[in-house]
Amino acid sequence: MRVLLVEDDEALRDTLSQALRQAGHGVDQVADGRAADNALVTGTYDLAVLDLGLPHVDGIEVLRRMRERQDRTPVLVLSARDGIDERVLGLRAGADDYLTKPFALRELEARVDALIRRAAGGLARLVHGPLEVDLAERTATVDGKPLDLTAREMAILEALMKRAGQVVIKTRLAQQIGDWASEVGSNTIEVYIHRLRKKLKPCGVGIRTIHGLGYLLETPGVD
Ligand code: CA
Repeated sequence: MRVLLVEDDEALRDTLSQALRQAGHGVDQVADGRAADNALVTGTYDLAVLDLGLPHVDGIEVLRRMRERQDRTPVLVLSARDGIDERVLGLRAGADDYLTKPFALRELEARVDALIRRAAGGLARLVHGPLEVDLAERTATVDGKPLDLTAREMAILEALMKRAGQVVIKTRLAQQIGDWASEVGSNTIEVYIHRLRKKLKPCGVGIRTIHGLGYLLETPGVD
């Protein structure tokens, strides 16, 4: 999943982005409200993690503008201030959930997973032939046996399974695992696809390359 992380405290931003990446998300990170606004207008995200106290444009205003332009990306608000007024303000402005600092990383991860799941219409599992991905647990199984995947391989497999039988363009896959700063080259995607193919081959699931475009998950006999 692709997450926009908006936090002006550099140390916290690094910690959070690392935790989200380890959980297999692609993370873009920005440090102020104006940059957040720009990123949200130009990019597509599965979730925004939004601090409220931000330079230039504060978090509540970023949120209001999102909802005004009908951007329904789920938003998890972070705030150092735990006053009930601010919590109400955040929720009224369109936040989906709220975390008061300090919080445990495990709690952040659990809320992120819950929001992404809720946005997917309560979808908890993706199934394709013998292959099953549990979105909440972030695990994959083949005929019930666990498949050993890295977080990035899992992110790519999720993206392919969500559109099984259809082409997923390469840049979309790069975004799933990409960082704001370091560009994910198309060769990187090829490496991950190559590894995934090797792991999926024994269960009869294939990844077809559509040259110049992207990839397609296919299994003979499965729609
Ligand atoms: Ca702040």
